[in-house]
Amino acid sequence: MRRKVVAGNWKMHGSRAMARELVGQILAASPGGPEIILCPPSVYISEVVRLCEGSALMVGAQDLAERDGSGAFTGDVSADMLHDVGARWVLVGHSERREYHAETNDMLARKFDSAQKSGLTPILCVGETLAEREAGRVEEVIGEQIHAVIRANGIATFENAVLAYEPVWAIGTGKVATPAQAQEVHAFIRSQLAREDANIAGLTRVLYGGSVKPANAAELFAQPDVDGGLIGGASLAASDFLAICAAAR
Ligand code: PEP
Repeated sequence: MRRKVVAGNWKMHGSRAMARELVGQILAASPGGPEIILCPPSVYISEVVRLCEGSALMVGAQDLAERDGSGAFTGDVSADMLHDVGARWVLVGHSERREYHAETNDMLARKFDSAQKSGLTPILCVGETLAEREAGRVEEVIGEQIHAVIRANGIATFENAVLAYEPVWAIGTGKVATPAQAQEVHAFIRSQLAREDANIAGLTRVLYGGSVKPANAAELFAQPDVDGGLIGGASLAASDFLAICAAAR
């Protein structure tokens, strides 16, 4: 039985005041059921870690540096630093990083490795654009996004990782994948892991992300290979986020 996960990606939104209010509202509801991860912008991680102390809520980063350790890499934040301030999870390869920062599959395989070496659990985001879907390339694109990580780091690396299927055409657009579309791709993702190791494939959580809202979450999470959600816009409103967490019970 895979325990469900709901992760909130705040993207480049918020402030210290907003973090205090949002986390306060979530804590007051003491949501049970899924593992819950909040991914604020990196400058607010310490604050959110402090707010979540003593609760079951966990904190993740939205990105990390490609290189380990420290060095002359202005603007970068390493996996060690994220771990040092209390993050325990990190998104790797969100489509906005792939698109606006030209992050490649090889680069992301290094970030994935760096995260794990520092004790962070990577959430590897994969997904196709609308053009790739219309060209019938969904499996080719997602297969390569996954196998780049397996080639570089080995299948055992997925013993301590989560995957998130995020069709690029569904992120922030209000266009959600149907439960059947999501299930089809999630089953494909699991089959790619199973080609290497059936046990790991059976245990790895695969989240769905892309316009998840309280109204569609339950149906998506009821699919056999959908193990929770990666939530953008709806993670910024406590009532929506809590309703989505409740749908993952
Ligand atoms: C995301 O940020 O990963 C995401 C899925 O956003 P939204 O829920 O707003 O589509």
